[in-house]
Amino acid sequence: MKKRIKDKDFELYLTEDLLKSKLKDLGEKITHDFQGEDLLVLAVLNGSFMVMADLVRSIDLPLECEFLRISSYTGMESSGEVRTVLGLTSELAGKSVLIVEDIVDTGVSMDFLLKELQNRQPKRLAIATLLFKKEAFRFNYSLDYVGFEIPNKFVVGFGLDFDGLGRNLPDLYQLSLS
Ligand code: 5GP
Repeated sequence: MKKRIKDKDFELYLTEDLLKSKLKDLGEKITHDFQGEDLLVLAVLNGSFMVMADLVRSIDLPLECEFLRISSYTGMESSGEVRTVLGLTSELAGKSVLIVEDIVDTGVSMDFLLKELQNRQPKRLAIATLLFKKEAFRFNYSLDYVGFEIPNKFVVGFGLDFDGLGRNLPDLYQLSLS
């Protein structure tokens, strides 16, 4: 099955059933690992909204859900990109925090987020990501819950976009090379 978004062709890569069943497995592991803890599940918008919805429904624990956004822009006075965390209102101190991402690629965004959240003194900080582009990853921190390791190719669907479109596709598609 193919999808055309703007001027690009995408091929079916991972089905909704497969994605959901993996998230169910991850949710069960998380349920086991976080017994008795004050769990705050923190989704990184926009891409992770579908992952979050399926994952938290598979975690059988009392938990809080929060959503944040990482905004990045090129600063006037610095040569590099400036990132900030927006929308995080919960207190993290003393809580077990699980970050939920749709995809970790180079790992730059997650590296920034880890540092930001660590400053707020959570009791424990763990990461769950549906997709991981291992070949592109440039850091040493560990990803605690990974759904699928995928090749370094652009994917869209199940919450992930191409130029703002495609987030609503139930399955995951990969950019066609031809
Ligand atoms: P990072 O390189 O910092 O790990 O990833 C930065 C962001 O790039 C991700 O959170 C995601 O929004 C986006 N990204 C990376 N790879 C892909 C991809 O294959 N498809 C889509 N739609 N977004 C991606």
